[in-house]
Amino acid sequence: MLGTKPFEETQERGDLRDMVAALLARELPPDRALALDREGLFAADAWTALGKAGLLGLGGDESAGGTGGTVGDAVAVTEEIARVLPGLAVDYVTCGMAMRMLGDGTGTVGSPATAAWLPAIASGEMICSFGMSEPDVGTDLLNLRTSARVEDGRWVVKGQKLWISLAHKAEVAFVLCRTDPPEAGRRSRGLSVIAVPLDQPGVTVNRVHLAGMRAAGTCEIYFDDATAPLDHLVGERGRGLALLAQTLDVERVLAAGISLGIGRAALDLHLAHLREREAFGGPIGRFQALQHAAADSLADLSASRALVATSVRAIEDGRPATALTAMAKLVAGESTARIVDRGMRAMAAHGLAEESAMQMYFRDARLQLFSPVSNDMIRNILGESLGLPRSY
Ligand SMILES: Cc1cc2nc3c(=O)[nH]c(=O)nc-3n(C[C@H](O)[C@H](O)[C@H](O)COP(=O)(O)OP(=O)(O)OC[C@H]3O[C@@H](n4cnc5c(N)ncnc54)[C@H](O)[C@@H]3O)c2cc1C
Repeated sequence: MLGTKPFEETQERGDLRDMVAALLARELPPDRALALDREGLFAADAWTALGKAGLLGLGGDESAGGTGGTVGDAVAVTEEIARVLPGLAVDYVTCGMAMRMLGDGTGTVGSPATAAWLPAIASGEMICSFGMSEPDVGTDLLNLRTSARVEDGRWVVKGQKLWISLAHKAEVAFVLCRTDPPEAGRRSRGLSVIAVPLDQPGVTVNRVHLAGMRAAGTCEIYFDDATAPLDHLVGERGRGLALLAQTLDVERVLAAGISLGIGRAALDLHLAHLREREAFGGPIGRFQALQHAAADSLADLSASRALVATSVRAIEDGRPATALTAMAKLVAGESTARIVDRGMRAMAAHGLAEESAMQMYFRDARLQLFSPVSNDMIRNILGESLGLPRSY
């Protein structure tokens, strides 16, 4: 019988998934996950358990204090977390970015000061966040306003970041800011990543309340002459965008992993409802119209999964993966928006009930259309890969 589970996986990958699912079943039973979503709370206990199990360190080189693993492992773990509490998976992807940025194993990225944080981030003792978006800047990131200057032997940071996941719990934020003017008109030059400690007088962090991904803990951060030691510069000065770009392929495929998790969980709920709900003398799953909707969702999920697997293979083999990961992010995000919509239709009033996880998946799936990069920008990138002129 066809199911929603991943196909063509190795025994090891299946065991990894089972381990994560068992851990989350203990730490985040359905009622607890829904309560955290409702209250907009960070799943701190589950985070600690993920750290203890070595799962937060995935993607960070073992020599640097991470737990290694493959990109496929990280995608599988992301999917399993998203099935249970999608907001937590958003935080998990952020942590993975830190692993890849600081722990590439070459020892060349980050200063000794920032690289030394890796084991603590991997264990869950230290939480970090990534500050790129601003109130006036999302997709058009190169137009960002937050700046940093060197004064009295330290960085002084001024500006505002918005929609920053987990900043209310984080010790440090990796902030993309302008440290130097654009070079020869290239706005991508002159941007740097600086690790700014958040517990200081020059920093104010406020929670921002959203209708979706509430458990991710989205925040705004004000930097009012906040300071950071000079060795908190990550990577090369003025080359922050290039540094972040190195993690982009993986970030996109991890974002697709969130979509797979939401889509799979929503389809499982949808199918259970088709079997259990009765109308006109039998289960509603006997109606052909409802079967077709579920079949479309399974096809959407499976097509996304195939594209994600192809992207992961390309990254792991060291082949060019940008167009593939862009398509995986796009297709998985758009498919998931359709899957949750079909699930909601089939569950009718029951899907809207606060006790049903379907309403959480329905709200959370919205993020998959525009973050970490908007699907329209993905389409722009694909247009260019087709040899068409840049449209923006
Ligand atoms: C729950 C959550 C967590 C987040 N976490 C973080 C985080 O940890 N760190 C962080 O830095 N950011 C974070 N973000 C922000 C997220 O990355 C941005 O929302 C995303 O980059 C889109 O930016 P925007 O919302 O400003 O939309 P805009 O950039 O304003 O886009 C608005 C619309 O215009 C379209 N558009 C823009 N430019 C083009 C173009 N050239 N061609 C075609 N269409 C275009 C977009 O597709 C979109 O439909 C988070 C957001 C949410 C909701």
